[in-house]
Amino acid sequence: MKKFMPEPFKIKSVEPMYFIDPERREKAIQDAGFNTFLIKSKDCYIDLLTDSGTSAMSDKQWAGLMIGDEAYAGSENFYHLEEVVREYFGFKHLVPTHQGRGAENILSSLTIKPGDYVPGNMYFTTTRFHQERNGAKFVDVICDEAHNPDMDGVPFKGNVSLEKLQKLIDEVGADKIPYICLAVTVNLAGGQPVSMANIKAVSELCKKHGIKVMYDATRCVENAYFIKEREAGFEDKSIKEILFEMFSYGDGCTMSGKKDCLTNNGGFLCLNDDDLFLEAKAMVVQFEGMPSYGGLAGRDMEAMAIGIKESVEYDYIAHRVNQIRYLGERLDAAGVPMVKPYGGHAIFLDARAFLPHLEQDQFPAQALAAAIYRTSGVRTMERGIVSAGRNIETGDHHRPKLETVRLTIPRRVYTYAHMDYVADACIELYKNRDSIRGLKFEYEPKVLRFFTGRFSEI
Ligand SMILES: *Cc1c(COP(=O)(O)O)cnc(C)c1O
Repeated sequence: MKKFMPEPFKIKSVEPMYFIDPERREKAIQDAGFNTFLIKSKDCYIDLLTDSGTSAMSDKQWAGLMIGDEAYAGSENFYHLEEVVREYFGFKHLVPTHQGRGAENILSSLTIKPGDYVPGNMYFTTTRFHQERNGAKFVDVICDEAHNPDMDGVPFKGNVSLEKLQKLIDEVGADKIPYICLAVTVNLAGGQPVSMANIKAVSELCKKHGIKVMYDATRCVENAYFIKEREAGFEDKSIKEILFEMFSYGDGCTMSGKKDCLTNNGGFLCLNDDDLFLEAKAMVVQFEGMPSYGGLAGRDMEAMAIGIKESVEYDYIAHRVNQIRYLGERLDAAGVPMVKPYGGHAIFLDARAFLPHLEQDQFPAQALAAAIYRTSGVRTMERGIVSAGRNIETGDHHRPKLETVRLTIPRRVYTYAHMDYVADACIELYKNRDSIRGLKFEYEPKVLRFFTGRFSEI
């Protein structure tokens, strides 16, 4: 088989896109305060801000929208989604939510008491926000390799360090740890996967101490693909089988349907515990909607149910991961520094190595994301010190070791030709990297500052 197989879909409907001229780009980045989140979509040529809610749906999903049962309670589409989630994820109970953070809010509120600790394999922005909002301290227990950008050859950089987890249990006591948040894959580490062996070992350790294992399942299909590709004993298993086994070791999950469920909206919480499920249903009506829709239209639940089935098709997921690898290999050939191995949903440029003349407090990744847009119209995102926010105790910046710009590839949206344009733009900029200046805050929001903060050039 060819290394990079063509797109495993034919195009049935198109959205025209337009090149953005340099004057318009310059105005757009100034108006946005050097924050790519604040650029209008129409001012972007290729939009790699995120893979969240940006997937192209299939003809079957669009057809599914037409059979939306928009009943206030007991929608047919809810029962379909519930059946699919049980079949593919294996959890007992399903609570739909408007998106992933809706599920995070419910899980965190119901299980965390002030003074608790929630370990996780690296933080995620909204996930940690909800943990802290409910009085927990987040503790990073990911393996050390994950904090080192260049670690090609380490197949499962998302793995939990069992020593770090054991140390936390010894220090604070298991009764202060309601659950571990196990992300598969780990977004902020660069889309890095967790091995089945590690999932199993984490689960055994947690069971012994009565700690629940709650997955952040947002990119679980990508994780399953990496297990099939890299872990001995799984070569001949289907993605569906691997996914099911991954979840068989845990107690539930939060899910952003906007990622691996191939939809533009949606999310859910899964739970095995009957009592917790009852409480979650009582809470979802306060914040999201009836437990049979959770803030979603019937048609959205239908599209999500169909999307889950499509997401485990081998050709789809193999192409997705390989399209990212293709972009990575093109950049690598030109010496552009990146997080390695390449992840499942994005290429992460190593902004420290790209811009060695900038201090971390000059926001190198934010500056690099702005520069990429300025020179090419390609929109990317900062994942470094700005995203990490401030320490709630000291008020100082969190200073993550990884200072990255994320080039996130939407699912089934762009072709290899688009990847070539992106690669050429980044390579050209890399040659002129000395001209990129640092940034300072003009406006810093108190929480989740990366979404709406504004900057100016130093
Ligand atoms: C996107 C994302 C979330 C939050 O989901 P939303 O649907 O955006 O609320 C949580 N965890 C990870 C790893 C994500 O990528």
